[in-house]
Parts: sequence; C-alpha cells; structure tokens
Amino acid sequence: MENVRSCHHGCADAHAGHPRRTFLKLASLGAGAALMSAGLPVSAARAGGKAEVLLLSCMDYRLLDDIARYMDGRGLTDKYDHVILAGASLGALVDAKPEWGATFWGHVDAAKKLHDIHKVMIIDHRDCGAYKLFLGPETAKDTETETKAHAQQLRKLAAAISAKHPDLAVELLLMALDGKVEAIPLAA
Ligand SMILES: [Zn+2]
Repeated sequence: MENVRSCHHGCADAHAGHPRRTFLKLASLGAGAALMSAGLPVSAARAGGKAEVLLLSCMDYRLLDDIARYMDGRGLTDKYDHVILAGASLGALVDAKPEWGATFWGHVDAAKKLHDIHKVMIIDHRDCGAYKLFLGPETAKDTETETKAHAQQLRKLAAAISAKHPDLAVELLLMALDGKVEAIPLAA
C-alpha cells in the first residue's frame, strides 16, 4: 500500500506502467538517446541531426499558432526549420526587398548543410498585408483574384527553388484566417 500511495498518478497499477512510460520516452528520443548512451551530449545530436523540411511563412501575428498547429498535424513537430518573411513567397521574390530574398536563399543553404532537409514548404495566407503593400489592395479584392495572386508567387518561388536546388521537393500552401489550409498545385 505504501507504493501505491506514493504514486503521483494515483492509479493502482501505476508501478507496472511507469517503466513502460520511461521506455517509450527514451525510444521517442531516437538518435539523441542513442548518442547520449554513446557518451555524447544530446545537443550534439541536435546540431548535426536532421530536419525534414524548411518552412517559409509570413510573419503575420494572427496565424503563428495556426501554422504551428498545422505543422503538428502533419506530424512535423520539431522536424522543420522555419524562416519568416512578410509575404512568405512574395517576401522572398519582391524586387523592393532584395535582402529578404538573399536571407531566404541563405537559409535554404544553411538548412541543407546543417539539417539535411529534403523539402521546402511555403505557406502563404489570405488577407496578407505584404501582398497589399507590394502588389496593391486589388490583389485581394475577391477570393478568386487573391488565390491567383498567391498561386502566381508561390509557383514562381517553387520554380526558382527547383532551378537552384533540384534535390529539394517543394510544397505550396495557402492558409485562410481561420487556419484552414489549401494546397496550391505546383503547375497551373
Ligand atoms: Zn502576411
């Protein structure tokens, strides 16, 4: 009875369950746990480990939680690098901000070297202030026009990524303000 009372979960069979929980936790650490058992710190595993994806998104404060939730839903929690530029695809392309594009390309290089990414995901979003600022408010005058404006920039950046990095897959997405995401096909 002493054992049961000391269990912080308060369940009668908790002491049969605890070792299994510990095992699952270690197993989920994967390469990090293996390296730690080899005497290397986990931080070394993280620095040289793998991310699956580089994500480019807009900076818009309204959607940051939705973006994280979407990536979690895709099973990509802690498996993506994240570059943020106002306008997402447009931010990387717009002539008015060449330094933003340079930042994007530099981070694609860094993500490949550091984390061996194999894919770039780009999430544009509706009602984007950067689209209105750089391309004019008429680009968002109705849903169809807005979708076309985003698809055009997303595909332009996808083509540039494929030209510079043919080894990288590209996925194009458009998020609504309620967090719903639609896929934009690579080809029109
Ligand atoms: Zn935006």
